[in-house]
Amino acid sequence: MDTWPQPKRPRLTAWLLYRVQRLLAPSAFHGWLGKWLETSAVRYRIFTGTEKSIKKEIFGCRMCGQCALPATGYACPMTCPKQLRNGPCGGVGGDGSCEVHPSMRCVWVVAYERAERQGHAADLQLLQRPIDHRRWGESSWVNYWQHRDDDLWTSDDGLDTAPVIWRPEPALRAGRR
Ligand code: SF4
Repeated sequence: MDTWPQPKRPRLTAWLLYRVQRLLAPSAFHGWLGKWLETSAVRYRIFTGTEKSIKKEIFGCRMCGQCALPATGYACPMTCPKQLRNGPCGGVGGDGSCEVHPSMRCVWVVAYERAERQGHAADLQLLQRPIDHRRWGESSWVNYWQHRDDDLWTSDDGLDTAPVIWRPEPALRAGRR
């Protein structure tokens, strides 16, 4: 991990990145490439260093190794000073500013705006699972190609089954009056 995170507005448009994503999607070739890289510490280090440089410049990537970008309009949630992966905190300004860095725009506001413009607003309803902090510094591309991130977020909003809320029976409520 490097310095404390600051919100970062991606340098490339979401329109372009959703298209680039299709080229990077797991395939037989990418699976082979990932394995080939992992069989040599030198190759893996060079590849991971290159990934870090590219993604740091474009997204402010901090190399958590478990990339959420495809579900966040390509705004990196790890640049949120609170590193929230499931939406903004309660301190977002009415103008969309970050509570910690008021001169900057909240990462999650940026994520929503970018995803919505590309018809991906529903992605923001998916629940991001907690990340494995032992994987910081790993190549998220290799992990993606090796299907290690397949369950990084839920496939729906996780709200199909309503939580059970206990309510006293009407008769019991009446007896309490
Ligand atoms: S790998 Fe992690 S830190 Fe890097 S861009 Fe993706 S979510 Fe952000």
